[in-house]
Amino acid sequence: MPSLPASEILPWHRQLWDVLAASPRLGHALLLAGPPGVGKTRFAAALGQRLLCAAGTACGRCHSCRLLAADNHPDLARCGPVAGKTEIPIDDVRELTAFLTLASHLGHGRVVIIEEAERLSRAAANALLKSLEEPPAGTHLLLISHAPGRLLPTVRSRCQRVDFPVPAREDGLAYLQRAGCAHPAAALTLAGGAPLRAAALTAADLQIGEGLLKALEEVRCGHLDALAAAEEWHKIDGDKAFANLAGLLAHAVQDTMTASSRDTADPQVQRLHKLVIGLDLRQIFCFWDKILDDRGLLDAPLDRRLVWDEVFLTWQRMSSQTT
Ligand SMILES: [Zn+2]
Repeated sequence: MPSLPASEILPWHRQLWDVLAASPRLGHALLLAGPPGVGKTRFAAALGQRLLCAAGTACGRCHSCRLLAADNHPDLARCGPVAGKTEIPIDDVRELTAFLTLASHLGHGRVVIIEEAERLSRAAANALLKSLEEPPAGTHLLLISHAPGRLLPTVRSRCQRVDFPVPAREDGLAYLQRAGCAHPAAALTLAGGAPLRAAALTAADLQIGEGLLKALEEVRCGHLDALAAAEEWHKIDGDKAFANLAGLLAHAVQDTMTASSRDTADPQVQRLHKLVIGLDLRQIFCFWDKILDDRGLLDAPLDRRLVWDEVFLTWQRMSSQTT
């Protein structure tokens, strides 16, 4: 799939960009919070460029902007979880705080971007507090988080929070069509409405998603028994399937909360609406949380079967309590 220019501000972020860019009092520590795949990282990169640009506009032409384009700017530091590790260790934060004590190379301040900040270890988060509270002059810390509720309250309270909700479905579909996505509606549904996540889905992901949606529909209407569904699904790549399941439910919950989508002619949205109509919204939220928590238990084959049993049994129980 052809990608769009990375520096482009996403259409659903333009208004936010204009507000933040015009703000005379941009906080020195920002918490960019929202679900995965809505464009937080891209927004942070653009904001970092604006802060470091010699013209203060993310001009794309100055020495600073050119260094950023080459991913070689001495005043920008990034940090985030390394593949295979669940936490960002304290040593990584120590490196960042040491970086912040140095003078700016190009004289336009320094920027630190921390991805998936909710995965800072407790010690790492504590080591960051001083920099968040009394940052050296001209420095900005941009913390990105898919789950801001999991950050230490002391970290959250020291940041100016900027929320990145899932954009309107029309905006997501327009983006995917422009990016050349073959099945925009199905991909967006599976990605919980997050356009960048949808763009990254493969044909195999879509197939798994369609199978899951069908299984949930059949268990809901009583055509498929929960344990029979679990028997089939525990053999599939669990992490991927759970990510897809969480995405589907995210979209279904969103649909339940926004009545406007009920009038849509989009068959994917109609299916999701039908899937959750009459269910208790709080129960769906709990179910969704459980799926996110259970993803950590999928590594052991025995646990995997139990987890899938529990998922479909819970869904079957919720379906039988339809109001
Ligand atoms: Zn520039």
